[in-house]
Amino acid sequence: MTDSLQDKLLEIHRRLCLIFGCPVAYFRALDPLSELVSSLLSHRTRNAASGAAFRALRTRWNGDWAAVRDADPAEVEATIAGVTWPEQKAPRIQAILRRITELRGELSLDFLAELSVPEARAWLEELPGVGPKTSAAVMSFSSLRRPALPVDSHHHRVAVRTGLIPASVAVGPSHRILEAQLPPDWTAQQIYDNHEVLMLHGQRVCSYRDPACHRCVLLELCPTGQARMGGAEPVSLSPLGR
Ligand code: SF4
Repeated sequence: MTDSLQDKLLEIHRRLCLIFGCPVAYFRALDPLSELVSSLLSHRTRNAASGAAFRALRTRWNGDWAAVRDADPAEVEATIAGVTWPEQKAPRIQAILRRITELRGELSLDFLAELSVPEARAWLEELPGVGPKTSAAVMSFSSLRRPALPVDSHHHRVAVRTGLIPASVAVGPSHRILEAQLPPDWTAQQIYDNHEVLMLHGQRVCSYRDPACHRCVLLELCPTGQARMGGAEPVSLSPLGR
């Protein structure tokens, strides 16, 4: 990483924090196992639908993840029917709950608090279907409150368009690259803020189909925006950024 790239990241962070207000309040404090289930439900699904599915699971089985693990798969699938691909997510969630039970002898992820962040993320990413976004979400969003950077599609799109990462880098591999650009002494809150402000900017200004470059505070830092506003050949707004 060049100094100029980290300088750019810090300036993007500073400008967006002025707009969205840092520190950003954490939106919930689930235990890490519940956060894992929530994160698995949220893949390619709107927040409202994944939140409703999560609440439905908790209500149907009284917040008992062991009961979800042992339930009829068809019933779990029907309970989370509002998310994308419930027929895949239901068996995956049950398989992960079974695997955690096998590995730990109990159904809890509270032990992750005793591990370093790289160790904890590596342990999580050994679970079937768990990648860097989910492992970072568990570490950052749950009551663990550890320093880890989730990258969702909005965050990724802004990072590509502003030149923090090449368009050829997909969401998965972008996690390690973007996290390496952060100052090593940043707290969990600062890293959470970085994710939140880039995500919010992607949702509200730098949208997939029609980025509002004319009112974007990042315009002078952003090669994509400058190309679009200058009438030059736009930098490709790659579907990779979706
Ligand atoms: S200038 Fe345009 S492309 Fe660049 S971050 Fe802002 S809205 Fe997105």
